Amino acid sequence: MLTAKQIRSGFIDFFKSKDHQFVPSSPIVPIDDQTLLFANAGMNQFKDIFLGLAPPEYPRVANSQKCLRVSGKHNDLEEVGKDTYHHTFFEMLGNWSFDDYFKAEAIEWAWELLTKVWGIEPNRLWVTVFEGNQADSLPKDDEAAQLWTKVTPISADRVLAFGKKDNFWEMGNTGPCGPCSEIHIDLGPDMCDRKNTPGHKCHVNCGCSRFIELWNLVFIQYNHTNDHKLVPLGAKYVDTGAGLERVAAVLQKKKSNYDTDLFMPIIDSTSELTGHKYTSKLGSKTDNAFRVIADHVRSLVFAITDGATPSNEGRGYVIRRILRRASRFGRELDMHEPFLYKLVPVVTDFLGDAFGEIRARADHVSTVIESEEASFGRTLDRGIKIFNTAAKRAKKSKDKTISGEDAFQLYDTYGFPLDLTELMAEERSLKVDTTKFHELMEQQRKRARAASVKDSLSVMDKVSVEVLPKTQDLHKYNTDQCEATIVGWIDEKGFKTAGSVEGDSEIGIILDKTCFYAEAGGQVGDCGVIKSDKAQFVVENTTKMGNSVIHRGKITQGSFSIGQKIKAVVSKDRNAIKKNHTATHLLQWAMQQVLGKSVAQQGSYVGPDYLRFDSTCPKAPTTDQLKKVELLVREKITADLPVTSAAMPKEKAQKLGAMALFGEKYGNEVRVVGIGTESEDQLDQAFSREFCGGTHVDRLGSIGGFKIIKEESISAGVRRIIALTGSVLNAHLEKASDIVDELSTMLKVPSEALAERIEQLIKENKKLAKKLKSGGSAGASDTMAQAKQLLESSEKIGQTSIIIGQLPATSVEQTREAVDMLKKKAKSAAVVLGFEDDGKATLLIGCTDDLIGKGLKAGDLVKAIAPIIDGGGGGRPQMAQAGGNNPEKINDALTKAAELIKEHLTTV
Ligand code: ATP
Ligand code: MG
Repeated sequence: MLTAKQIRSGFIDFFKSKDHQFVPSSPIVPIDDQTLLFANAGMNQFKDIFLGLAPPEYPRVANSQKCLRVSGKHNDLEEVGKDTYHHTFFEMLGNWSFDDYFKAEAIEWAWELLTKVWGIEPNRLWVTVFEGNQADSLPKDDEAAQLWTKVTPISADRVLAFGKKDNFWEMGNTGPCGPCSEIHIDLGPDMCDRKNTPGHKCHVNCGCSRFIELWNLVFIQYNHTNDHKLVPLGAKYVDTGAGLERVAAVLQKKKSNYDTDLFMPIIDSTSELTGHKYTSKLGSKTDNAFRVIADHVRSLVFAITDGATPSNEGRGYVIRRILRRASRFGRELDMHEPFLYKLVPVVTDFLGDAFGEIRARADHVSTVIESEEASFGRTLDRGIKIFNTAAKRAKKSKDKTISGEDAFQLYDTYGFPLDLTELMAEERSLKVDTTKFHELMEQQRKRARAASVKDSLSVMDKVSVEVLPKTQDLHKYNTDQCEATIVGWIDEKGFKTAGSVEGDSEIGIILDKTCFYAEAGGQVGDCGVIKSDKAQFVVENTTKMGNSVIHRGKITQGSFSIGQKIKAVVSKDRNAIKKNHTATHLLQWAMQQVLGKSVAQQGSYVGPDYLRFDSTCPKAPTTDQLKKVELLVREKITADLPVTSAAMPKEKAQKLGAMALFGEKYGNEVRVVGIGTESEDQLDQAFSREFCGGTHVDRLGSIGGFKIIKEESISAGVRRIIALTGSVLNAHLEKASDIVDELSTMLKVPSEALAERIEQLIKENKKLAKKLKSGGSAGASDTMAQAKQLLESSEKIGQTSIIIGQLPATSVEQTREAVDMLKKKAKSAAVVLGFEDDGKATLLIGCTDDLIGKGLKAGDLVKAIAPIIDGGGGGRPQMAQAGGNNPEKINDALTKAAELIKEHLTTV
């Protein structure tokens, strides 16, 4: 029996034998396609080739692509767990021809692999072709229909024609598309899940689970444009996709994808963790939970590895939804604590050979998942209760619908994504009022928008990017001053290309060329001035819209007009920005040296004031590690190594191994910044190479110094470092040195001894605080309890109790209270209490009035015994106190007091 691993490599080897080049899967988070949240098919990474925007590197390629179908046109989330063959994450085995072979070979090879190499009985296979569509003037794919019977032994009655829904493939609402030909397998009448549906007859594409699609051969011939036209492409392409999980189930003779070696390790581990058994039944609540969890964990591992992080919008929210669903299904298996993260190593273990990246980032992924699980777990159980109440209400309602208000409360207060509420509702045959839910969401959004500060230059947003002229801005890399011509500006009325402008409202000036850097890649936009002989415009920020650089700011003098020649001068801040930017690259390199390759940039800020670097980092770096990082950066700065940058095609940059930022959109032409090499040709020898469009110093020496001033966690598995360079660092150090001087004077110790002195002060402070606390209520009750015991064991002479004893360390106030209490309780008493605290002895004496009448006075007694403890004292007849320096003698003093009292009382 073939393992999934063997099937995957068998597929690739088969196509290698047909002259295909293996290309790795693209990341599941598309790097440069904003039209797509997640990769949903193998062809995504070749989209530009199909559109004729980029030349193919090889005419024939093959791979196994990581796909996620949870959003947009392809969304299989609802199917997961309920059937045996739809997953959110799956691997799509694919082969492509870029204007090389076409339908005949694609059909022949697919058949050969399935029936000859993998040995699937031909009589289990059926194929489909496109029947054409009149509305779109698309003809029937006769060519494919004829080829099937020509190049394979399949009989004509097994070649069926279907419409657009099944046999016209599109990646999304726009983009490359074309007719397709699908291969389906008949799993046998037993597998039908609609046996009990009246009138159901199994056939290809009937929707039951007897016939499932294995492989889709797409013949890309058109581009679906934004204005909904199908425009024929210049060349013809083959794009095929077969689900590895489905093929594995067939070849491993399993009834369900979940029973294959691609899922069973996860299911087994889940069983171990939860103590529940998996029985592979459809329709079973417990089994369904197993399947959903196994599916969702795979998706989470791959998506988080490729840079998605759970959040409240876009990709991040999709990931959060998947995680929360999985968490909820965990409750079905009685899991109330985070557990999904424990399944991460299982996934990375058996899929890490094919996708090394998941192994490399396993720790990060676990950290992220655990922390999300924990935070959702805090509200989940409570949310489920609220849901149950809402469901009860809904059951009683006429239309059996959970109200939009309830769904919104579950979302807003308990973090339940709408689809989770819908899923839970469906489990009880209830609906959810999603219209009202969305209404409430919109109201909330409006409130939030109203509360947020209005962008002062929001006029910019009204301008359509297409109308703005392109600015030549390469000068930013080599100068901070240039002559240029004003070609237009944006003011509150829109984009202007005629006349002149004056006044002090904010505008955005566009030049034919500029040396200003427009905000991008974490580096702030430049400030500076645009000036002529008689006029001046202060640039407060520079941003990019489309290909146009907008200098935003105010005219402070005179007026400007279209066609006018001006001088653009970037502020001196630019130097500080350059230093911080190069230092950021050094920092990333040094962190990877010290903490390993799992450190990857998540975001950054590069301004004139400081630099901020956010990166994945499974554990908090230790102080020692941070010191090492600083040291490495400083060593490079001291070595004054050169910095070199060059523009090149993206593929070349990737081959150079330049580090790119996850999720960053890069064009076909990119800049690579390398540190440690003098010439562009030797960029491969640079020790740090990054995709970067920012501005940098020429030599490291000019950075002038580097110091990390803060390191903190900003979210699960993501750490933030703030660091300083150049003159800002000098100012910082000077201030720090002033503070040290001041402290040193204040504490009267040299600066080297400051730490020790402060440590000592802290210790003393702690001790004092403790002492104060022991004077508080707990200490008080202790003292009282001890005193009461003394009363119980006291001697009596006549009616008078002689209460004498030493208390554990306490305060004078407590002891005084104890004396009073004892006097009251005993009615007639002579009380002598002593205690030691911090090397000092204290004695308190109290006498009831009847004794005073007999001449026994506390004040006299104290005077008699105080010298024993090397001290003195005094007081009133009722109450007196002594303090001394010899606590060891407290007992002697007490004994003496007892003697004196007894003597007095017996002689009177
Ligand atoms: P289906 O009709 O079964 O949902 P599809 O038409 O959406 O499949 P394609 O977009 O043609 O599938 O994808 C190509 C191949 O990828 C399919 O033939 C199938 O083997 C596999 N595949 C598609 N969707 C999934 C999924 N959600 N889970 C697992 N494999 C899938
Ligand atoms: Mg589908």
